[in-house]
Formats: sequence, C-alpha cells, structure tokens
Amino acid sequence: MQVDLIVRRLCVLSENRVDLDDLGIPSDIPDWQTECLAMAEAEPSRLPIDVLLLAMPPETTGLRRWLARFRIFNPGAHILLAEYEESMAWYRSAIALGVDGLLRLPLGADGWRETLIDCAEALAASEAQRRLMGHLERSSHSLEESRRQLADMLLNSYENLGRVHSQLEARLGQLSILYSLGRDLNRESNWDRALERFLGSCVETLEFGGVALMLWSFDQQRLAVRAETSLAGETLARSLRLLKNLPIERQLASGIFGLHGGEVLEGEALREVVKDVELLVMPLVQGDEAEGFLVFDKRYERPAQLDDDFHFLKTVQTLLSEALAGAKAVSRLKRLGEFNRSVLESVHAAVLTVNGRGVVSYRNARAADLFGERLDVGCEFRFDEGFRLIDGDALGLEDRDWIQRECRLAPHGAGRNAGADERRLLLSVTCLPLRHETDTRHVMVCEDLTEYKRLEGELRRAERLSSLGQLSAGMAHEIRNPLAGIAMTTQVLQSRLADRPETEPYLQRIQAEIQRLERIVRSLLEYSRPAQPSLRSLDLAEAARIAIGDLRGTAETAGVALEDLQAGTSCPARADRDQIQQVLLNLLQNAIQACEPGQRVGLRIERAAAVGGGGSARLIVWDSGPGVPEGAVGKLFDPFYTTKAEGTGLGLSVCQQIIKEHGGQIRYRPRDGGGSEFIVELVAADDHPSHEEM
Ligand code: ADP
Repeated sequence: MQVDLIVRRLCVLSENRVDLDDLGIPSDIPDWQTECLAMAEAEPSRLPIDVLLLAMPPETTGLRRWLARFRIFNPGAHILLAEYEESMAWYRSAIALGVDGLLRLPLGADGWRETLIDCAEALAASEAQRRLMGHLERSSHSLEESRRQLADMLLNSYENLGRVHSQLEARLGQLSILYSLGRDLNRESNWDRALERFLGSCVETLEFGGVALMLWSFDQQRLAVRAETSLAGETLARSLRLLKNLPIERQLASGIFGLHGGEVLEGEALREVVKDVELLVMPLVQGDEAEGFLVFDKRYERPAQLDDDFHFLKTVQTLLSEALAGAKAVSRLKRLGEFNRSVLESVHAAVLTVNGRGVVSYRNARAADLFGERLDVGCEFRFDEGFRLIDGDALGLEDRDWIQRECRLAPHGAGRNAGADERRLLLSVTCLPLRHETDTRHVMVCEDLTEYKRLEGELRRAERLSSLGQLSAGMAHEIRNPLAGIAMTTQVLQSRLADRPETEPYLQRIQAEIQRLERIVRSLLEYSRPAQPSLRSLDLAEAARIAIGDLRGTAETAGVALEDLQAGTSCPARADRDQIQQVLLNLLQNAIQACEPGQRVGLRIERAAAVGGGGSARLIVWDSGPGVPEGAVGKLFDPFYTTKAEGTGLGLSVCQQIIKEHGGQIRYRPRDGGGSEFIVELVAADDHPSHEEM
C-alpha cells in the first residue's frame, strides 16, 4: 500500500544523547530528518516533530511533565516508547505516559522502515480524523444555526397559521351564514323564520352584539323593524326615528355608516371613533329603490375588521335586496292575478280558456253553471251532441283569429234536469299566439242569449198581438151592442112563441150561442184592455187552496184526482188576489179538461232566489194528462188557439196578460214522467204587508 508519508521529522529523545546507529536507525531514509536530543536540552515548544521516540524508561524523572507540555504544542505527533524490559511495573508506567506505541530496540533497517510506514499511516489517519473532526465541528455549528433558524421560522409560521386559521374560521362562518340565508330566502315560505335564523347566526357566529332588520313598506311611507336579535330598547327606537328621516341620497348610498348619540358618522370620521360607535348601519338598496336598513352592534378594535365585515354585509345586502325585490314582484303579480280572477269570476258571460293541447285550462263560475260536467278544467275541449251551431256544423277554430257564432246548448245532465230549457248562446272565440303548448291558445266567451231571444220573440209576438188586440177590442165593441140586441130579441121571441113548443130547442140553442159569444167578447175585452192589477202581499198558498176548493166538484165530475197543496206551505208574493185567482182557475180548469178519468192534477209552490238579489215565487200547475204536442207549444199563448170544440182559445192569453202586468212570467214545460206543467213566476213579497199595501 502506497502511503502518503507525512512524517518528515523523527526525533529520538533520551536521557543523554545517544548514537542513532546504536538504535539501528538507518541514516538514509529518504525525506526524513532524524535527530537525537537529550531530554535536558530539548524544549517541547520548539520541537515540531511528527514522530517522537522516547529512548528511556517510562519512569524517567521529569518525562511525564515534559511529555504533557510536548502534547500541548504537538497534538498531532505520534509518540513511541522504546521497550527495554518486560515487567509489569514498566508497562504500568508506559500506560500512564499515554504513548501511542511501544518499540523494541534496536531495530533493523527494514523494521525501521515498517515502523515509519505504520507511523505515517497513523499520522495520516489522525490527520484525517482531525480534519473530519474539524468538518464535523463546522457542520455541527451550521447545523445548530440552521436548527435555530428553523425554530424561528416554525415559530413565525405557527403564528401566521394561527392568524390564517382564525381568519379562515371567520370567513367560513360568514360563508355558511350567507349560504343558509340564500337557501332559506329561496326555500322558506316563512320569511320571519329565515330572518330570525340569519340574525341569530350573526350574533352567535360573527360576534355581533345585536342585529336588526328594518324595512320600508311597499308604499315607502313606513319604516318598521321587521326582525331583530339582541337589539331592542331605546337605542333601536331612536335609530328607527333617525333613519326614517334620513335624506334619500343617504338611504341609497351603499356604504356603512355609524349612529352615535343621534348623529350619523361616515368615512374617516367613522373610522376614528369606530371603537365607540353605538350602532353601525348598512342601507339595503335595490336599483334606485331604498328597501331598508340592516342595523348592527359590534365594537371594532381595528378598522380592518370593519372592512372584513363590510364585505360580508355587502353580500348580505345583495341577497336581501334581491329577495325583497323578488317578493315584491311576486306580491304585485299575485294581486294582479287575484284582480283578474275576481273580474273574470264576476262577469256574467261564461269565460273558458283552452291550451295548445286542446285541454280546458280555466273556466269561470258562469261557465261551470252553463256547461256543468261538460268542458270541465282538464277535459278535452269538445262539444257533445247537446251542442248545436245554428249556422253550421264545425266551430272552425283552426285558421281564424276571432270567430263569433250562435249556438244552442241542450240542458246538461239529462234525466236530472230534464225539462230544463235549451240555452241560446253567442260564442266568441279568440285565438292567441302560442309559445308553449301549455299556454292559453283559445279564449272563449259565451253570452247567454236565451233570455234575450225569449224577450225578442215575445216582443215580436206582442207587436203581432197588439194589433190583433186592437182589432179584437174594436170588434168586441162592435159585436157587443148587436149581441145585446139579439139577446133581447131572442127573449122577446121566446115569450111570443111560448105557445109553439117545437121552436123552444132552437131558441135555447140561440141563447147558448149568444152566451158563448158574450164570453168571447168579455175575454177579448179582458185580453185587449187588461185591468191594472192592485199589487199586495198575497199568500199564493192560500189562493191556491181556494182555487182547488172551487174546482173540487168539477174534478170529481170529470173523474180526475185534484191533489191538495202540501200542508203548512206559505209563500207571499206581490199580486192581485182576484186576478191570480182567475189565472189559477183557468190553469186548473185546463188541466182537468186535458186529463182522462183517473189521471191527476195538482199545484205546487216554490221559492227561488233571483239573480241580482230579491226572490221569486213560483206557482206550478201540473197534470198527468197527455201534455202539449211539441208543435203546439209555441202557439199555446196565442189568442184563439184552442183544441176544444167549445173553447175560446183566450184563457191562456188572458193569463199571460195578467201575469205580464204583474211583472212576472208564465211558461209551459213538459212534466217529468208525462203531462204538463204551467209555471207562473211572480215577485216574492215580505211576509208582512207594508203600510201602503194595507
Ligand atoms: P181554451 O181552454 O179555451 O182552449 P186556452 O187558451 O185556455 O183556451 O188553452 C188553449 C189550448 O191549450 C187548449 O185548447 C189546449 O189545447 C191547450 N192546453 C191548455 N192547457 C193544457 C193542458 N193542461 N194540457 C194540455 N193542453 C192544454
């Protein structure tokens, strides 16, 4: 092994100077200086030696002290002790000296070389160790420094982390409050609960002392506390008074301002005293409309915290303002919707809408009355067989913006309301542009023309009858006098021909015909010049009972059962007693005459509520006779229409005149199960007659 020999100087120390040859040290070792010194003359501090050979016994006086000093000045030197004897005492002394090795002398030249190589190795190793130690020491120093710096950094980071953590916690608290507020405002129908939760969270999580939400009324006239948590009393009342009177620019400004002792503070003035300000206020604004204020109580040691809260409150402001504006719009729409609905429900016409799928999407109350189960909401829009257009078959909605058609509608729910009248309708259908198939496509408005058509018919008939009436009245008048003359002459003739009994039947026949003519003339005059009724409160039930009593005998003779009125009935109407009596007798008589023996006749009374208040009373004379053939129904009330050999055909016409003068109506309808019903409708009266009527 090639060792880098760092040994340059070998010194032999003895008690007295010795010859190197005696020790076997060769003088020709390359690069080595070898010298021999006596201990007395060698000064340890002046000996820069690599290898020191102590050529003397270890217990030599003064050696120990000398060696101690030598080590101080030559810490890297390798020290060998010449081994002179093998005794324990000698070894103990050698150990006590602390030498690096023993060397038995004298050595041969090769031995010396080997010894010097070992020494060089030991020196190199110790030098390497020394250098390593130096490195280690330096590393340990820098390590210590790094550790110290790391500890400082860790401490700083830890402090920063703590700050960030608490900021994060505050932010998370704010975010969670905002999230809950947004969610609650969207979902919650009960706003009070949503607001209460929000204000509660502000106090609990964000350490507000108290919070109040003040809102303006819809008309912007009143400001009131809508919700509050831990904020009440005189301070709040004073703030409310103060905020009510704030100038509008201040209400619409978006920044936070302070309220202190009845004063408004803002900007730098607010920041200076922010620690002591009583309450802080955030105006709630939507567009250019002031919605109200969020008032909160929180003391700020550092204005930066106020900025943090400001950002949070700003988002709250946006959320609340949006939600308030939304709620206002919904409320306005709702009110508009309610208004539209109440208008639609109150109109007399039937209104029905049909969507793009051809399904009825809305109908008002009148439409429900008119159509019943047909055309109900959710049903397919389709007229059934009870519905007939007057001027064609198809409604033809497809390609027209607006159509108007007249139609007939048979009473719905056949069986239950059989006998009810067919309705005449004027149908107007408007077609709307369609964006979605659930939108309204057709709006249908139905006017019930039944009454109008009836009146129109009656008017035409009245015109016709009026001229007929005038003619009849003139004729009746003209006939009356000659008839009286004929009657008188017949009586004279009867007395003159008393002795000729064969003429008696002829004369009686003439008398009978004269009486018939007189009846006709009387009816004609009644019909053409109807007496003005004297209207009083009349119990129709009582009038009916009297009429039934009067005709009891006639019914018995005809073998017809005349049924009594239901006991206990009473129904006051405004009517003329005599005229109503006449009408009842006529109707009952007709009914009895129409019946075969064994059939029945009766009278019933009904009260009905009239449209627009008040009420009506109905007298219904019915029979189980053959009824009126369909073709004859329209002629029933025409004067002179009769199917009886002895009839005048004026009974029903006179009845109609009388009832018309009463402001009522008379009409015919077939009776359920066969027979006729004549319905007299009069204005109902209070039970107690008024003073004028007495
Ligand atoms: P008259 O009794 O003199 O015929 P009215 O005017 O009272 O005159 O009646 C007209 C016609 O109406 C009668 O001839 C009859 O054909 C028909 N009529 C009236 N009442 C009934 C009834 N209850 N049932 C069937 N037909 C009736």
